[in-house]
Amino acid sequence: MTTTERPRPAGYDDHRPFWDGAAAGRLVVQRCTQCGAVRWPPRILCGACLSPEVEWVEATPTGSLFTWTVIHHTTLAGFKDDPPYAVGLVEVTVAGGLVRMLGGIRGCAPSELQVGMALRAQFEVVDDGALVNWVLVGDDERQET
Ligand SMILES: [Zn+2]
Repeated sequence: MTTTERPRPAGYDDHRPFWDGAAAGRLVVQRCTQCGAVRWPPRILCGACLSPEVEWVEATPTGSLFTWTVIHHTTLAGFKDDPPYAVGLVEVTVAGGLVRMLGGIRGCAPSELQVGMALRAQFEVVDDGALVNWVLVGDDERQET
């Protein structure tokens, strides 16, 4: 566990299951119980059918890099030692579809990133929960999946 000055989730009730899942080392997303569409980030209505009926489903915590940006300068104290670092959109397949999840990409120089790289979620345990980052899947892990 680390204590960090990084910003924390805003605490919206609609997001609580996602952050509770992360704290337990699980990646969970919303799925509409009316039409089956999956979505992330959490929202109160389905973007496909506007239904408020939702369930939370667990996703395999692996995905592929869709795109990213590199942060070179920051004014946030919790990130002051990190630049340059990458924040990416990671495509994650879930029963019912695909979601793109935003998160920091760790353990890899931004110059090494490529579209389509295999990533897995890394749950960074902090004093009051966990943050979701992404790390490269090693060659040995890729063969197992
Ligand atoms: Zn729906």
